[in-house]
Amino acid sequence: MAARATLNAVSRKAILAAADSARVQRFVQTHGMRLGAARFVAGETLDDSIAALRRLNEQGLHANTTLLGEAVHDEATTKAVVAEYEEVMRRIAEEKLNANVALKLTHLGLDVDEELAYANVKQLAEHATGLGQFMRIDMEQSAYVDPTLRVYRRLREDGLDRVGTVLQAYLYRTPDDLDALLPLAPNLRLVKGAYLEAPEIAYPQKTDVDAMYARLLERMLSGGGYTAIATHDEALIDHAIAYAKAHGIERDRFEFQMLYGVRSQLQLDLVRRGYKVLVATPYGPEWYPYLMRRLGERPANLLFFVRNALR
Ligand SMILES: Cc1cc2nc3c(=O)[nH]c(=O)nc-3n(C[C@H](O)[C@H](O)[C@H](O)COP(=O)(O)OP(=O)(O)OC[C@H]3O[C@@H](n4cnc5c(N)ncnc54)[C@H](O)[C@@H]3O)c2cc1C
Repeated sequence: MAARATLNAVSRKAILAAADSARVQRFVQTHGMRLGAARFVAGETLDDSIAALRRLNEQGLHANTTLLGEAVHDEATTKAVVAEYEEVMRRIAEEKLNANVALKLTHLGLDVDEELAYANVKQLAEHATGLGQFMRIDMEQSAYVDPTLRVYRRLREDGLDRVGTVLQAYLYRTPDDLDALLPLAPNLRLVKGAYLEAPEIAYPQKTDVDAMYARLLERMLSGGGYTAIATHDEALIDHAIAYAKAHGIERDRFEFQMLYGVRSQLQLDLVRRGYKVLVATPYGPEWYPYLMRRLGERPANLLFFVRNALR
């Protein structure tokens, strides 16, 4: 068991590091969709995404959608991203889908200028609010945590309350971030964390991350906000259910979230047991970094790719 965990940790690092190689990127981008990326991504167009959201809703699942993309370095592209997200929200409203948008600030210009990202995300938060929709800001690499939390706070100060963000259990700083946010009764998604981070800032051992996830989960559930428990880890899901029951936390104070293409049966089992489950369902042509993070989380997914390639 310990040897397997070590092997997985090593493979995870290797996959996330290889993701930066131009050769790996060229190969995966050329063949990836055919070899299995379609398992994790709803498709390349908004129509593909809308069809996937509808299929999920028909099974009793809620969904969010993300136009894949990150690390945009020019203002014009960020404006095109804003326009596409406005269209996504309009389509969700028109088609009466149980869905919302989750987006990344580096897709909206955080690498160019925090003010640009703020103006873009504010425009989208206002658009979402006008349509009665919720919107979530994903959490990216550790360098973006401070600006992301600043942007989230500014939106709330500007009266935009139908917005949430994400905290990552692997960062040492997260218990302090949570304490600072709780007075806002925030809507927070809790994740383990998907990026390659240095041991100076993030727990390198999975067992420590899992233990911290359980601790943060309890604090969030008892904290008066709304908690999106985003994990496929059954032990943590069971822990959340038991903790909520023991502390009289109603089911409308939390939901479970999982990724499109991961543990689909578990998603449906939870729906049958009366829990709200949201499936994060991204789309778009820029699926490469997203796919590499999914492979890093479960190196066994690589075998799935290799099997498809051999076929
Ligand atoms: C809805 C959602 C939103 C997220 N948003 C963010 C975010 O904003 N920022 C961020 O840093 N991270 C985000 N993540 C990713 C997260 O940080 C983890 O990397 C990811 O969820 C894997 O961890 P786990 O909690 O499922 O637990 P793990 O212990 O990694 O996995 C538990 C079990 O789930 C299954 N599993 C997990 N991942 C996969 C996979 N890729 N393929 C197949 N099976 C898998 C396996 O059976 C595994 O044994 C998000 C995850 C979810 C579900």
